[in-house]
Amino acid sequence: GAEMTARNVDNLSQYFPMCMSNLHRTLKRDSKLKHYGRLQYTLFLKGIGLNLEECLLFWRQSFNRMTDDTFNKDYRYNVRHVYGDVGGDSNRRSGGYSPYSCQRILTENAPGTGEAHGCPYRHFNAENLTTLLQSSGLTDRSVLQGVQEDNEKKKYHMACNRVFEHIHRNELKRAREDGVMTAAQLETIVHPNEYFKRSYLLKN
Ligand code: SF4
Repeated sequence: GAEMTARNVDNLSQYFPMCMSNLHRTLKRDSKLKHYGRLQYTLFLKGIGLNLEECLLFWRQSFNRMTDDTFNKDYRYNVRHVYGDVGGDSNRRSGGYSPYSCQRILTENAPGTGEAHGCPYRHFNAENLTTLLQSSGLTDRSVLQGVQEDNEKKKYHMACNRVFEHIHRNELKRAREDGVMTAAQLETIVHPNEYFKRSYLLKN
């Protein structure tokens, strides 16, 4: 299995859907991320299996222009809260919050200027989305065209699944030929953590 550690997040980011790779890149570029971006990304990292210690380490290392004091004072608590390590009884009992589904990311807290959370298929304009996809190595013109068409019809999941299918086309072809795809694996992806899980399984 994969090493779900702070040190390995860079490597694991090759399996992330666009929403999360956009957060990952923004964080690397700016050494900071606004509130909803931190929340969306922390929950996703929790969902892929980073434990609390590794997640704290990840944020501490990512915020590399910040003192330990500032980190401990302003950020540590929120990460612990997400994991249910602090907070009210019910938060602790339930182990904190659940990672956000696409539905939630698509419909709640649309990102404003300077914010990197949300779903790029929904919240980026056409030009920025194409740039993002191209910079991720996706240059196939018919796929890019298909994504634009899905988005114009507000079928953001379809766009995301189209990209998934393209990126994993060789692995999917082999898996289908071998008949190793379960019914669940053939369904449309509707959760960023499901995207990660499938991508990871197919590529390893
Ligand atoms: Fe992320 Fe879901 Fe949007 Fe895909 S459709 S980029 S998994 S929020």
